[in-house]
Amino acid sequence: MSEELENNEKVNFITKKIDEDLKSGKNGNKVVTRFPPEPNGYLHIGHAKSICLNYGLAADYAAKGQEAKFHLRFDDTNPVKEEQEFIDAIKEDVKWLGADWGENLFHASHYFDQMYDYACQLIKLGKAYICELNGDQMREFRGSLTEPGKNSPYRDRSVEENLALFEKMKNGEIDEGKMTLRAKIDMASPFFIMRDPVIYRILKKSHPVTGDKWNIYPMYDYAHCLEDMIEGITHSICTLEFQDNRRFYEWVLETLQTSCRPQQIEFSQLNLEYTVLSKRFLRKMVEDGLAVGWDDPRLPTIKGLRRRGIRPESIRKFADQIGVTKKDSTIAIETFEGIVRDDLGPICPRVFGVVEPLKVVITNWDQGIQEIEAPFHPHDESFGKRMVPMTKEIYIEKSDFMEEAPKKFFRLKPEGYVRLKYAYVLKCDEVIKNDKGEVKELHCTYFPETFAGVKPEGFPKVKGIINWVSASEGLEIENRLYDRLFIVPNPRSDKEKDFTDFLNPKSLVVEKSFVEPAIKDAAIGTRYQFERQGYFIVDQDSTESKKVFNRIMTLKDNWNLGPKKA
Ligand code: ATP
Ligand code: MG
Repeated sequence: MSEELENNEKVNFITKKIDEDLKSGKNGNKVVTRFPPEPNGYLHIGHAKSICLNYGLAADYAAKGQEAKFHLRFDDTNPVKEEQEFIDAIKEDVKWLGADWGENLFHASHYFDQMYDYACQLIKLGKAYICELNGDQMREFRGSLTEPGKNSPYRDRSVEENLALFEKMKNGEIDEGKMTLRAKIDMASPFFIMRDPVIYRILKKSHPVTGDKWNIYPMYDYAHCLEDMIEGITHSICTLEFQDNRRFYEWVLETLQTSCRPQQIEFSQLNLEYTVLSKRFLRKMVEDGLAVGWDDPRLPTIKGLRRRGIRPESIRKFADQIGVTKKDSTIAIETFEGIVRDDLGPICPRVFGVVEPLKVVITNWDQGIQEIEAPFHPHDESFGKRMVPMTKEIYIEKSDFMEEAPKKFFRLKPEGYVRLKYAYVLKCDEVIKNDKGEVKELHCTYFPETFAGVKPEGFPKVKGIINWVSASEGLEIENRLYDRLFIVPNPRSDKEKDFTDFLNPKSLVVEKSFVEPAIKDAAIGTRYQFERQGYFIVDQDSTESKKVFNRIMTLKDNWNLGPKKA
């Protein structure tokens, strides 16, 4: 079966392994997965992929009648970069994505005592020792891809001496960097991870959960397998870079002869075009002021995507659709954008918004305000109707007028005709310019007999239909037009340059736009389709006196015409 086909059927190498284990009775009837973020930053769409995968597996197996659970566990073993702010934000994001952990919220730091005891056990088994090599020396002793490493001169200390020194490390009697606890495995192993990896280091740092209790903290590879084991995780799903580390993961549990033996399974991490998925790079953008915060709608963070107006449904669908593979690849951004458009199309009411306005004066209009009834959604009556006021002065899109238009341009041009959607046909009689020779406004006439789609006999054929907003009745908004963050698909692939050299200077363009009055009271977070323009959401920066909208996405993919003007 091809990988693609497997994904479509929701059968893949992960579900195959789980099915095998269920069949052999390895974990009883249980399937327990987890998402183990380190609380050192905000989550991005790569993490979302992992959350949806792990939560989705538990949900799917539960639906099939297995005893299945999903754990959210903070992998908070390194107090240097971890903060409560991130813990709170991660919880909020996981919840927003719809991954309900129920009772199963854990902290790796809750297991520090057990981890310490297991380390003492390793020492007693002669499988761990206190080493006094410093960082540089350790690197020197580690060897290379072609050369085996050398044994540390501290490797053969007695069990008693190791236990006593470990205790001193724990009690804060040894300075940072002076000693480590290392697993005793094989300095000649072809896998670096097996060349006596460090499992504990001294860090005299306060921890957000355990406070000042510990002067030593376990290393990730040692801690992670124990966390999984303690929680009874059956399948520990992680990204490909941990493939080699699986050897050590299994070594720890095997050496300690634990009764629970989670199966680590690796899949390729999500990479997405025109963005960067890495906390380190995202942090740099936020800290250097290249983004306005972690929730900048241009960022691929969950907070950014959410503020941009993307729904969790889109992210879940995306995660599901791209499936899991063992090959590293970069997903085309069009895949994501297409899913977002498909998600928003059926659920957003449609209204008129003129993004880049050009004023039109209808010279023969003398009837004040005419309220025109129009549906909120052309394919779904349940959205109801709204009244769109038509007046003497209206706005149309700047791009819907061309002074020197090619033959195929069917919108407004001098002496040309166009239809205002739901209303009348207009003819452009006069182009008014400012001192700089720029088009300032158009003077047009309207044809009463063409109302609401009527095509009178003998009337010139009108092909173009455009959106419009009454100038006097419409509402001016601040419109934040977001676009791709970078101008190239892989901003990190050029080793000569910094990824920030590829930022798209037009990733945010702010326009004074106009929307029809029907949505003037829209609450923050309400989404609309502005007909012909795209999907928009009311941003949290909106105030009583000024509404702010974010463009979630244009209606069509016009990127391939070149990075857009707006
Ligand atoms: P980053 O590389 O962005 O700093 P991380 O891997 O250090 O992220 P963690 O908090 O350690 O962040 O990750 C939690 C989980 O999310 C891990 O299981 C990790 O494998 C997974 N994960 C992180 N990035 C991606 C990605 N791009 N695609 C899929 N899963 C990911
Ligand atoms: Mg990482």
